[in-house]
Amino acid sequence: MTTLLDTTIPRALDTIVAHFSNVRRGPVEIWLFEDEAARRDAERRLAAAGVQATIRSAYKPLVHAFLEEIGTEGLERVTVSMPNHPDGSAPRFRSEAYPLAGLLRGVFLQFEDGDQPLNYGLTLEYGGGRTERRAVFTPNRVRTDHLGQQVLAPCGWLRAGGTDEPLETEFEAAFWQAMAAIQAHAWPANPPYFDTLEIRVDTGGIERPLPFHDECLSTREALHEDFYFSLLELFQKRSGLAAGDRSLRPGQIIPDMRAATGPTRVHVALKPATVAAEKPADTAPLETAATPLEPARIRAELTALGGEKFAARSRQGRSVDGIHIAGSLPGLLITAGQHANETSGVVGALRAAPLLKQRPGINFALIAPENPDGYALHIRLREHHPRHMHHAARYTALGDDLYHRTTLPLYESEAKLEALRRTGALFHLNLHGYPAHEWTRPLTGYLPRGFGLWSIPKGFFLIVRHRPGLGDAAEKFLQELTRRLIQSAELRTFNESQLAAYRTHAGEVPFPVYNSIPCQIVETEVPLVPLTLITEYPDETIYGDAFRLAHTTQMRTVLEAADLYFNGLAQLVSETFQKQGHGTGV
Ligand SMILES: [Zn+2]
Repeated sequence: MTTLLDTTIPRALDTIVAHFSNVRRGPVEIWLFEDEAARRDAERRLAAAGVQATIRSAYKPLVHAFLEEIGTEGLERVTVSMPNHPDGSAPRFRSEAYPLAGLLRGVFLQFEDGDQPLNYGLTLEYGGGRTERRAVFTPNRVRTDHLGQQVLAPCGWLRAGGTDEPLETEFEAAFWQAMAAIQAHAWPANPPYFDTLEIRVDTGGIERPLPFHDECLSTREALHEDFYFSLLELFQKRSGLAAGDRSLRPGQIIPDMRAATGPTRVHVALKPATVAAEKPADTAPLETAATPLEPARIRAELTALGGEKFAARSRQGRSVDGIHIAGSLPGLLITAGQHANETSGVVGALRAAPLLKQRPGINFALIAPENPDGYALHIRLREHHPRHMHHAARYTALGDDLYHRTTLPLYESEAKLEALRRTGALFHLNLHGYPAHEWTRPLTGYLPRGFGLWSIPKGFFLIVRHRPGLGDAAEKFLQELTRRLIQSAELRTFNESQLAAYRTHAGEVPFPVYNSIPCQIVETEVPLVPLTLITEYPDETIYGDAFRLAHTTQMRTVLEAADLYFNGLAQLVSETFQKQGHGTGV
């Protein structure tokens, strides 16, 4: 193990309480990345020392103002004028107000451009004609980030006497100190740079579930996300790749955030990869699965399907398992868990497979999960934070996105190539998910860079990637598929609710919505398979009934899409593919 940083950072709240208890001057206003209980407790301690203090959340201050300070009884209409800062865009502040549209049910909510750099302006209209106006301060400072870019980032703040300025908190210091230590390390010339880079932070903060779908305000989750994506950006730059290039193979980045009290401990180290023992397979019915499946259960389900087994090896030596049910019908490939923190597709595929198998002549291959190293990391990270999205488990242990791997060694990718050799599939059902609650990067400007479209859930949606010549077929296919899927009233209600909140905070979905299901159609020279359907269910972090609706929707999509494929689509895809001189095999 090589330690890059091992340090302890004082808790800003403790420093502040000690300081003002001594100087006994007030009133004072403070913004910190602390939960409501800790802030109220500090206010009481300061009051006991004779200091009048108001301590607010520095994270999502507008949402916290509605949760803690603004009366919503009789509220009918809210107009929010957004901060207008030269270093921060309006879409970011509108996004930061999410999920007010979901929380203020029955209240008309609208946003307009404002002229204050760091204040939201609120007009609150209540029944009986009462109107209240107030400003909500949003503490932010301009920082130079790890790429040398200027970002407007939420920060701690102190307003007391003549002081009105940013206040460095442990939340910010832990991030920037770890980033600096990693940046300063003497890395090898070429990737992979490490087996695993582990950033362990034990810290306090906010963990507050909200009563709208799976929404939850979490500073530790935000810290994980910002570490993971900022480090990818850092190593992309070091490798000479563009920011966001998914082919980078730095190694496995593991931000491991733990809840703690007192000072914040930060430990950054390079470690060899370890393969932990797996839990035994459970036998509860898949239909009612309330949590992601253990790997042993997935293997047992694949074995129970019969057919021929095939496998590849992951970077860390785990088996990437597939089965092939051979028959005379056109080939079909089903995969799940390319992004291993998207778990409902695995259950959905395993539920669909035995039903598909009943179709005479069926010829399909199923691989689940495609990324077992990521899947194992997801299990490890969920032990401490089951409701965090854990994007570090999304990519492989090499650090790349599996489908962006085009050079040797192929590791996990060999399973898909084998499935295509066996089936000659012209249609790929690629089951995915995405965050079930808001995804933020507050340390580096709030919105997740390159993933702005994914930061707020917008219901279950579908993506078709097709070769030239299949655009009309893809559109007809999606219209019919969505017509069938939306027969589920539960799915319709869910999608319409999420889409309404999305539109208020992020604007119109930038692609067509068929039958309450957004559908993106992308024409591309897809390698290997001419037609791919990607499912996107907001499934990261959900359990219980929400998880059951997710995997039931994945299963229904597999069955309905396969039905449409065997009833006309396969013929069309095959003809188009052959006309383009590709032949039918792979
Ligand atoms: Zn995905």
